[in-house]
Amino acid sequence: MRLFQAIAQWQEERQEKHLQNMKEQGLCPDCQGKGFNIPVSEFYISPSHYNCPGCNGSGSYQDWSQL
Ligand SMILES: [Zn+2]
Repeated sequence: MRLFQAIAQWQEERQEKHLQNMKEQGLCPDCQGKGFNIPVSEFYISPSHYNCPGCNGSGSYQDWSQL
């Protein structure tokens, strides 16, 4: 189980770096500032209205952090 723990820790550190990075740029970590977050499987079905639930479509870190 050591390998699993190492991977989990690695992913956690990666996620923290990502959050820090997005915070510095003022971008929503969920959609990277795009304002939408489309699951690839659903993109072809209904690509029209997919506002990112994290930032409500604004793409801003501030909006994301307030939720
Ligand atoms: Zn977002």
